[in-house]
Amino acid sequence: VSEYRQDPVTGAWVIVAPERGRRPRQHLEAAAPTAIVPAFAPDCPFCPGNEHLLSGVVDVEPPGTGAAWRVRVIPNRYPAVRSDVGSDQPAPDAAASTSPAGGAVRPGWGHHEVIVESPRHDADLQTLSDPEMTAVLAVYRRRFVRLAAEPGMESVLVFKNHGPRAGASLQHPHAQVIATALMPPRLARAETWARERHRESDRCVTCAGLQAVLDAGERLVEATAEFVVLVPFAGVGSFETWIVPRRHQPSFAAVSDQALGDLGSCLRRLLARLRRVLGDVAYNFAIESAHPSKAGSPALHWRLRVMPGLTTEGGFELSAGLPIKSTRPEDEARRLADAAVAPAGPLQ
Ligand SMILES: [Zn+2]
Ligand SMILES: [Zn+2]
Repeated sequence: VSEYRQDPVTGAWVIVAPERGRRPRQHLEAAAPTAIVPAFAPDCPFCPGNEHLLSGVVDVEPPGTGAAWRVRVIPNRYPAVRSDVGSDQPAPDAAASTSPAGGAVRPGWGHHEVIVESPRHDADLQTLSDPEMTAVLAVYRRRFVRLAAEPGMESVLVFKNHGPRAGASLQHPHAQVIATALMPPRLARAETWARERHRESDRCVTCAGLQAVLDAGERLVEATAEFVVLVPFAGVGSFETWIVPRRHQPSFAAVSDQALGDLGSCLRRLLARLRRVLGDVAYNFAIESAHPSKAGSPALHWRLRVMPGLTTEGGFELSAGLPIKSTRPEDEARRLADAAVAPAGPLQ
């Protein structure tokens, strides 16, 4: 039975149509041959020893480590936004001008960095050790804070594209950070929604959503001391899953070192669950967080949003902005929760 659903946390609408999951598929995706990935690739710009292929290194973890780095940050060679706009250019917060075509135009100020998550070309978030995973997340947090402090930056997104179908162009494990002088429209809508609901009910929509999931046990994948892993009531894609801090916290900038360790094990287990249930699928994830300047907001609450690349948008979705889900979120959560993975707690 098909239904329209509005997510109480984001305000976004989707169509849930389980019947769609049963339609015949003629274009089955051929299983990709499992190629052996080497630990080092001579032509890979992210591999140690290939620094001549980089335009610089802006940060390393642990700090001060040279060749012994665990994680390092480099400028994106093909940036979506530019941090090196000349001094003759308008400031990042300059008002928009109007183009001859009638549309608003602002200079493309921003920052676009790559976080190389391991020196090993064949590493994967799922196989990193505890300290390696914590180092990755510590760099996510540090770059988030650092770029948010740059003049005029309205929003910072840390995100990862895993697998060619998810938009990853290089195999070597890496994430990206984009800071923009324009508030991204989808995040702006979600913030407005959360603020309006807070005005009406005096509650954070995310805290209320977490409580509902914990009370009913429905859509719950896992709960730890610091985080709840859940399938949203009306997420965009199949098996979209959120990792949400259990206590109210608007900005990822405020996450503690202890919580980072817990976040790492939640994320690793979630990726293992997705693999159990769906196979080696491509996925995207993003940390959707309020700018640190909004860290005191009673309405905003950050999440790490994981989106397996199972669906490609068709004409209807692209035009309507109304995604069609072919599995029920309640069923997705049950399958993920039931997937046998290492138990909660410190790994190794
Ligand atoms: Zn490499
Ligand atoms: Zn909250």
